[in-house]
Amino acid sequence: MPEGHRPRKSLGQHFLHDPGVVARIVAAIAPRPDDRMVEIGPGLGALTRPLLERLQHLQLVEIDRDLAARWRAEASAGLAISLHEADALAFDFGALGPDLRVVGNLPYNISTPLLFHLAECAGRLRDMHFMLQKEVVDRMAAAPDTPDYGRLSVMLQARFRVEKLFTVPPGAFTPPPKVDSAVVRLMPLSPEAIPYRDARRFAEIVARAFGQRRKTLRNTLKGLVEAEVFERLGIDPGRRGETLDVAEFAALANAGGD
Ligand code: SAM
Repeated sequence: MPEGHRPRKSLGQHFLHDPGVVARIVAAIAPRPDDRMVEIGPGLGALTRPLLERLQHLQLVEIDRDLAARWRAEASAGLAISLHEADALAFDFGALGPDLRVVGNLPYNISTPLLFHLAECAGRLRDMHFMLQKEVVDRMAAAPDTPDYGRLSVMLQARFRVEKLFTVPPGAFTPPPKVDSAVVRLMPLSPEAIPYRDARRFAEIVARAFGQRRKTLRNTLKGLVEAEVFERLGIDPGRRGETLDVAEFAALANAGGD
């Protein structure tokens, strides 16, 4: 049992113990001393400590009261961290300043809403590196017309370059999760590369198109996109949402609703 802390299943606590995996993650992040970095869920510090060997300072967001108390004590003893005892889902990452680097071995039970939450402040971020359930990483990076492609793929790929780095087996953690994990890198696109004009309308179209995957766009986007717009853009309304790439979703969002 790691350092006297009983892992809390409800908080997705699977602690990394494989030094080889830790080294690969830290190498992928490639910290520079003056990076502005925040780690979500430091837990017992598997990533925190090697990161701190390379950084002047590190921000931590941890929800577990006992673990937060440990980090608070370490901060008082002089460790170069700022502890935010908080729920990452409600935390204002944008307030930590521009050019922020976000890292974490994330609690898998909240990974999708957390990614959506972080995407909202994409303009303030330099990059993000996360360990996640492999299946989620496959969905994040999926291409159109593949089984993994869905709302998560489109919403993230419209704001970030998504790069799956490597997979990690359950045995690298204590306790081992039931599924494989993977490490992913997200690099925000430059403002000029963001394909949509109205984020809200884009999100609504994507949500509707994937709400009923088997239905055609003519059905799922009824009332949102007129027949004449499909024709003008050369997008067949008989297609299903899962066949559209990010640029086509953006074209539909940009064509109407002004
Ligand atoms: N980074 C450590 C490691 O690699 O061993 C711990 C990873 S563990 C998978 C997830 C961590 O996120 C735990 O420390 C857990 O307490 C924390 N956590 C869970 N839900 C959270 C939330 N909503 N906000 C912030 N931290 C959370």
